[in-house]
Amino acid sequence: MTPQNIVASQREFFLSGQTKPVKFRLKQLKKLKEALQLNEKYLYEAIYKDFGKSEFETYATELSMTYAEINLAIKKISKWSANKKTKTNIANLPGKSFIVPEPLGVCLVIGAWNYPIQLSLIPLISAIAAGNTVILKPSEISKNTSSVLTKILNRVFIPEIIHVFEGGIKETQELLEIKFDKIFFTGSVPVGKLIYQAAAKQMTPVTLELGGKSPAIVLKDANLKMTAKRLVWGKFLNAGQTCVATDYILVEKSVEEKLLNELKTQIEIQFPNFDTLPENYVQIINDSNFERLMNLIDKTKIFIGGNSDKEKRLIYPTILHKINFNDTIMKDEIFGPLLPVIAFDSLDDALSKINNKPKPLALYVFSKNKKIVEYILNNVSFGGGAVNDSIMHLTNHHLPFGGIGTSGIGNYHGYHGFKTFSHFKSILKKPFWFEPPMKYAPYTLKKLNWLKRLM
Ligand code: NAD
Repeated sequence: MTPQNIVASQREFFLSGQTKPVKFRLKQLKKLKEALQLNEKYLYEAIYKDFGKSEFETYATELSMTYAEINLAIKKISKWSANKKTKTNIANLPGKSFIVPEPLGVCLVIGAWNYPIQLSLIPLISAIAAGNTVILKPSEISKNTSSVLTKILNRVFIPEIIHVFEGGIKETQELLEIKFDKIFFTGSVPVGKLIYQAAAKQMTPVTLELGGKSPAIVLKDANLKMTAKRLVWGKFLNAGQTCVATDYILVEKSVEEKLLNELKTQIEIQFPNFDTLPENYVQIINDSNFERLMNLIDKTKIFIGGNSDKEKRLIYPTILHKINFNDTIMKDEIFGPLLPVIAFDSLDDALSKINNKPKPLALYVFSKNKKIVEYILNNVSFGGGAVNDSIMHLTNHHLPFGGIGTSGIGNYHGYHGFKTFSHFKSILKKPFWFEPPMKYAPYTLKKLNWLKRLM
């Protein structure tokens, strides 16, 4: 079946109203959960083939978040999808007002390779919970995982509800020629712009989950040991191939050396035995990314790391110091296990440096000083972030996850994902028995005075 045929069959199915009952949505989500549980072994194997990643890390970063989203949606769909009463303004009394959540229709979800399970399935879960049908196009770069996901979903679901198309640029461009009711894209900023343009031609609403350079600001009063521990974990998880990984550290000059030493200690604790225990490391996804990252390492600026294994596509966690904003590594998102550290004297200068760059997807502040933390949070615009931690904010599905400016448009996770895939229809309901006469012509001064008093 061609993509056109499948989309047409999904639209027909959607218009039949079968996706709307909560019971139907619950059934699909439970089916998905069961299918994932039954096939976990194949998912672990596929992720291992794509990234050399351990079961522990695959469960922690992919499956646990996916299951949490399914469980939450199952628990909350009835509440989320129910009509909500709201207040009515005086001019419309004695009317009643309510909001009706309704699904959008046929949705296209385009996934990225770095967390190929959750970045494909979490938006899919939200779309199904909201009563839509879904065409999923996972990334061709994480080919083993995408292939297993395709097999699972296309076996378990009829194509009228969920269908997966594998493919790269050409296949995605073909899909973008078709009219969808929503496009949800996760990926890079340049491709995000292409998706936005293609969607505009059809007036299709989009959510764009993109990337950028996310800073961590470390102030002199921070607990530097804990700061380093949390920064090292968040940065080198998945070998730094995380959209919200700390891209660079801005540290107050007086504690630069101390922080560098703490980062080194933490790397040695969390990532020992690079040569003898390579399975504890995550691989760089492909040769071209490996080359790109190795070319970003200025050997004169290595504080720790810099070594690699080309055959296994492993790069040891690397800290670069004496970095400034003009260095090549400060141009684009790093998306790998390299962490540049820039020292600053003036916080305002550091903030203006961030504010003169595209708005980051994430920002992290490490400090015990409430006033300074508040000052930073109020004076820098970014997608989301954490105080005294890194990346963990995205695991809290009560928080909307998304970017701002070039780091993204819209958000998802939990109820925010349900909202992303819903339209909220606003309804005013009036009785027949009352109608204020003053709104009707002929307009008189007396009526105007009444109107002014009332409004
Ligand atoms: P990418 O933009 O190269 O690819 C993403 C998807 O777009 C893939 O499915 C791919 O097949 C498709 N695609 C690629 N080129 C295309 C084109 N010319 N036309 C149409 N479709 C095309 O991104 P990636 O390399 O898979 O992922 C890395 C980027 O994604 C990083 O910038 C990272 O920060 C970002 N990211 C963001 C989030 C988030 O939640 N905000 C999560 C993960 C990754």
